[in-house]
Amino acid sequence: MLLIHCPYCKSDLPELEFANAGEAHLVRPADMSDMSDADFADYFFVRDNPKGVNLERWRHAHGCGRFFNAVRDTVSDKFLKVYPAGEPRPSDAEVKALLEAQAEGRKDGGSGA
Ligand SMILES: [Zn+2]
Repeated sequence: MLLIHCPYCKSDLPELEFANAGEAHLVRPADMSDMSDADFADYFFVRDNPKGVNLERWRHAHGCGRFFNAVRDTVSDKFLKVYPAGEPRPSDAEVKALLEAQAEGRKDGGSGA
C-alpha cells in the first residue's frame, strides 16, 4: 500500500485517506473578464500531464482535511517531497536533487520513499 506523508499530521498514512486535487501552483488570472473564451478554457480545463515529475495538490480528505502540495514522480509513483500549501514551488535544482536521491535509493535497494 502506498503511504503518503501528511505535512500537517506529520505521519505516513494510507493513500486511501488522500484525494488528488490536481495541478499545484496554478495562478489565477488577475482579470478573467478580459480573457477570450479560448484563453479561459485553456486556464480552466487544460492541465499539464508530464511523464515524470509532477507538482500536485493533494488533500488529506479523511484526516485533517487540509490541502498540501507534493512533488511526485509519475513513473515510480513515489512522493519525492510534500510541503504545506502556500509554500513556494521547489526550484528545478531541488527537484533534480530529489530525483537523484530517489535514484540512489533504488540502487541501494531502498524504496526511495
Ligand atoms: Zn493530515
